[in-house]
Amino acid sequence: MGLEQLTEHVFYLPHEPETDRPMLAYVRGGRFSLAIDAGYSAAHVGAFYRALSCAGMPEPDFTMLTHWHYDHSFGLHRVYGASFAHWRTNDFLRQEREKARCDGYFTALRREDPFYAREYTAQVDPEIVPAGVSFRDGLRFELGGLAADASHIEAPHSEDCVCIYVPEDRVLFLGDATSEDFFHGNYMDQGKLRRLVERIESTDCKYCVLSHAAPLRKSELLEYLENILASRNPDGSLPL
Ligand SMILES: [Zn+2]
Repeated sequence: MGLEQLTEHVFYLPHEPETDRPMLAYVRGGRFSLAIDAGYSAAHVGAFYRALSCAGMPEPDFTMLTHWHYDHSFGLHRVYGASFAHWRTNDFLRQEREKARCDGYFTALRREDPFYAREYTAQVDPEIVPAGVSFRDGLRFELGGLAADASHIEAPHSEDCVCIYVPEDRVLFLGDATSEDFFHGNYMDQGKLRRLVERIESTDCKYCVLSHAAPLRKSELLEYLENILASRNPDGSLPL
């Protein structure tokens, strides 16, 4: 699988449904390049960097996590350059690292998550590391001729979700922010989703990028999310 181009400066390695690998994006500026998410594993990072190399592009200078979930973060120990995450993301990663020091952590992951078992069939379990730089509200990457703004957002998926907005190319990266909370019984907080929809509506973007789907037009994503809001009970549960 090769690198795809979305806009003048935005490229991505598509998500892989067989292993649930999220897409890894690459924003290329005149001075620096930014990767969005570290990926599932060392092999995932390797595949991303090979795709970049085939397209004649260098490894990213910066890597920004969208949230702590392991399909997005367990490749972090192998990324090139400086890594960035929300401070809660780093908190979660430190907690996971502590848990992983106990026997059985990775065995349980292999047993409970078939995607993890498939991703790590031929790989040793990862070293869990936090990002090198953490922030609270937001930060701007000045990439040279274009910027990328990372902001902590309220989202139903996880409390550490970060979106990355590239105004020059009108692309908004949302990670898994619009999905339910898989770690809390797939709960969908309607209020959080409603406020996230309002935030997306007010952002001047042409494309919205979710980690486990092909890039969407803004109108396509908003229509999809309005349908989710309309199909759920006010407490977030599905109607019987
Ligand atoms: Zn997630």
